Amino acid sequence: MLIFDLHRPGQAGVRLLDPAAPTRAVDLPAHLLREALPALPEVSEPEVVRHYTRLSRENFSVDTAFYPLGSCTMKHNPKINDAVASLAGFTALHPYAPVSGCQGALELLHRLAAALTEITGLAATTLQPAAGASGEFTAMLMVRAFHAAHGERRTTVLIPDSAHGTNPASAHLAGFRIQEIASTASGRIDLAALRAAVNDDTAAMMVTNPNTLGLFESDIRAAADILHEAGALFYMDGANLNAILGKARPGDMGFDLVHLNLHKTFSTPHGGGGPGAGPVAVTAALAPFLPGPRVAWGDDGFRWATDNCSIGRVHGFAGNFGILVRAYAYIRALGAAGLTEVSEQAVLNANYLRAMIGDALPLAFEVPFLHECVLTAKGLAKRFDVTALDVAKRLIDHGIHPPTIYFPLIAPEALMVEPTETESKATLDAAATAFRAIVEEARENPALLKEAPHTTRLSHLDETRAARHPVLVEPLAPNMP
Ligand SMILES: *Cc1c(COP(=O)(O)O)cnc(C)c1O
Repeated sequence: MLIFDLHRPGQAGVRLLDPAAPTRAVDLPAHLLREALPALPEVSEPEVVRHYTRLSRENFSVDTAFYPLGSCTMKHNPKINDAVASLAGFTALHPYAPVSGCQGALELLHRLAAALTEITGLAATTLQPAAGASGEFTAMLMVRAFHAAHGERRTTVLIPDSAHGTNPASAHLAGFRIQEIASTASGRIDLAALRAAVNDDTAAMMVTNPNTLGLFESDIRAAADILHEAGALFYMDGANLNAILGKARPGDMGFDLVHLNLHKTFSTPHGGGGPGAGPVAVTAALAPFLPGPRVAWGDDGFRWATDNCSIGRVHGFAGNFGILVRAYAYIRALGAAGLTEVSEQAVLNANYLRAMIGDALPLAFEVPFLHECVLTAKGLAKRFDVTALDVAKRLIDHGIHPPTIYFPLIAPEALMVEPTETESKATLDAAATAFRAIVEEARENPALLKEAPHTTRLSHLDETRAARHPVLVEPLAPNMP
């Protein structure tokens, strides 16, 4: 139901002044004046509240149920972080306040950047980028500036075929040509293919680690050496950092630049497009190219400073400040030991869930994995014509958000499952039972399964028709004036 369907003339949430009463004369040009009343629904306040509350309950969120959407880290975000970010001292602070009047906020930014620099094992961090992809793009602009400052014009960025789709998009937007590197049969970087591809036109390689199969790239030091010997830079997509947090640092692995997703690992609620934050940490050699300004500590306190070769701004003011406050609160609340426990629990949960699902759905690649695993419905598709999409839709009837499907592209009929560290054993057990029940159902009643979901307002959509012939809702209901 649309809010326009609730329209009844005379209903209102506010009582406006009598339009006939004399008001201050305003000299408006005639062409700016309305000729007819706006076609707004007339609805009372309780009806509006009930309408939007009802809509919100048709939504699925981490706050309602299990959300194992691979690569997205849909975990519980401690509410204390929201409370801290809502403090008036933060929310009422004007971005143009004089430096002397916002020392606390600057100190928070400075401390957060220092913490992320330490966590990544690098030398300096920018907090400006607005999301993961924005961090990738920022990093690629720095790669370009770095080579230019060394009198070089390198045009190619190497990206493995298992990469997150944003990687090639960001490198392309920054003006680079993309060259794909094949993965080995075990789903990792193929060093021979890398050696063959690297030359003096290679600007950088972008690697997701752990990669989109949830696998740790075991040859990472060797890959770093190959790139560095050729004068190229090594970039890590660190969106999956909650698999290695406190255990391994990108800087120690030989990476020159890394972006983090605060709205995944560092506990900011996400989904629906934002806001987020994608800080980029870099080596000392790249630090002068970071976006500016950044917070520096000087004789008279914290102040803004811009490095000499800075690529300039990539975001207004300090970035998405509220997200940065949440990340800082999260890091301080957990401390080093707590952050390490995050990754231990994330990896344990993924491996436990996988073990409980058992042979019902096999792994796409039979190798040890970290915080997420890629299962395949290849066998189900072959024997019962039940695809990864069908399994995903049926999970909705079991109260579980579908995992990421058909990604990464190198795994057939892929179901990418990431339970995250904040789920209990009971939730994981129930999810494993649901997965197994669906596979059983594929055997016994594939027809019913293929019509799922059965418990939602809209059932199984015809994807092709929905994409080719979208039914766009009429903006006005028939009973409108
Ligand atoms: C989520 C994700 C991104 C993109 O992050 P956004 O904040 O959505 O732009 C990039 N790489 C990987 C591996 C991711 O999981």
